[in-house]
Amino acid sequence: MTERIDGHTILIGLMAYPIRHSMSPTMHNNAFAKLGLNYAYLAFEVTNETLPAAIQSIRTLDMRGSNISMPNKQKVIPLLDKLDPAAEMIGAVNTIVNDDGILTGYTTDGIGFMKSLDDEGINIRGHKMTLAGAGGAGTAIAVQAALDGVTEMSIFNLHDDSWDNAKRNVELLNEKTNCKATLHELEDRDDLKAEIADSFIYTDATGVGMKPLENETLVTDPSWFREDLVVFDTVYAPRNTKLMQVAEQAGVKHVFNGLGMMLEQGAAAFKLWTGEDMPVDYIRQILF
Ligand code: NAD
Repeated sequence: MTERIDGHTILIGLMAYPIRHSMSPTMHNNAFAKLGLNYAYLAFEVTNETLPAAIQSIRTLDMRGSNISMPNKQKVIPLLDKLDPAAEMIGAVNTIVNDDGILTGYTTDGIGFMKSLDDEGINIRGHKMTLAGAGGAGTAIAVQAALDGVTEMSIFNLHDDSWDNAKRNVELLNEKTNCKATLHELEDRDDLKAEIADSFIYTDATGVGMKPLENETLVTDPSWFREDLVVFDTVYAPRNTKLMQVAEQAGVKHVFNGLGMMLEQGAAAFKLWTGEDMPVDYIRQILF
């Protein structure tokens, strides 16, 4: 570290609260070191209240940019100068790039989802996806998958705080992309079973399967899954979620947790800041 940091080192931040648990500083700093890039990535505890001053500091300190996480992903939008079209559709930002004081917001979670499937040789373009969850991750996945060419999407959500967001997503996908999207109630089990049966991929973006719900899954019956279905859980801790175990019992060949998505959303941000490809396999070895 002391060999790397000097008077020219360029700072990149991560602004969220809580944030001390994040793996992103380890991921990016190891990637900078591996490629010999003179950047440093630091996590800052930033709340909605301190966000405006923190964003202004990106300009003041001539930082290259920042990652943004909860609770700031939506609140940051009015503080930026420009939005990438996907971020505008998603209505959330997880990456900021500073070009000479002009701050542009991007969302790389959906890019990470699509790239992690590409890395595994799975191409979901031209196919149908059933997606559970329309929160931050679900929205980013839905928008990017639709923009990239997924042709049909059945989105399931509970009648909770994110139901209106799910409605908005479905309208937006139908208006602005070539994907035919429909909204479904997650409480309707028969409907969920039927839509999964008709899909190429089932993606769970609800966080059910992550602590404190690590012993739960929305699909408990292996007979709902075919061997040639793709099953994707956005959760990566634990690594082998309850949903993945049900899919494995069903003999599903392509079952994924959210690790690849997490690495690739970071790699997409890394590329935006540095113009370089993150050494993803090397970082995977370090982190996992
Ligand atoms: P969020 O709070 O924005 O959205 C949560 C969604 O899950 C909503 O649609 C909500 O209705 C639904 N939900 C919550 N509890 C539920 C329950 N008990 N049953 C059914 N549905 C329920 O959260 P988020 O930021 O979208 O994160 C969701 C999950 O995605 C988390 O597990 C998170 O770790 C994961 N995630 C992974 C990555 C990655 O890179 N792998 C990135 C972002 C988020």
